[in-house]
Amino acid sequence: MRKIEHLGIAVKNMEASAKLYEALLGKPSYKSEMVESEGVNTMFFKVGESKIELLEATNPESPIAKFIEKRGEGIHHIAYDVEDIYKEIERLKNAGFEMIHNSPKNGADNKLIAFLHPKSSGGVLVELCQERN
Ligand code: ZN
Repeated sequence: MRKIEHLGIAVKNMEASAKLYEALLGKPSYKSEMVESEGVNTMFFKVGESKIELLEATNPESPIAKFIEKRGEGIHHIAYDVEDIYKEIERLKNAGFEMIHNSPKNGADNKLIAFLHPKSSGGVLVELCQERN
């Protein structure tokens, strides 16, 4: 893993949170994107080399809606940038980690992504992401 690519933050209301993060970071978001397959609306802010990804549920069955129900708004996942996501998935599985996605899928922000199960990563939801070329 090369760096923290972004932190994912679950929010109830994107419009309100967009204003909050614009004020907090002192700059506007550079990208918004709906990922219908995941039931999320996303909004990205750059902070140096890393990013903040705001996540809002698009329906009540969305994993984000369920997360907020259980734990409220806040940090949802840590995403690590990897050079080769296929190799990294194999490496982690061999090391005993449980993957939610055994093969990468298309995520927001032009990325291939895969999530680890938080049960095997100390209660923290971990996302691997690799830039799609
Ligand atoms: Zn993410």
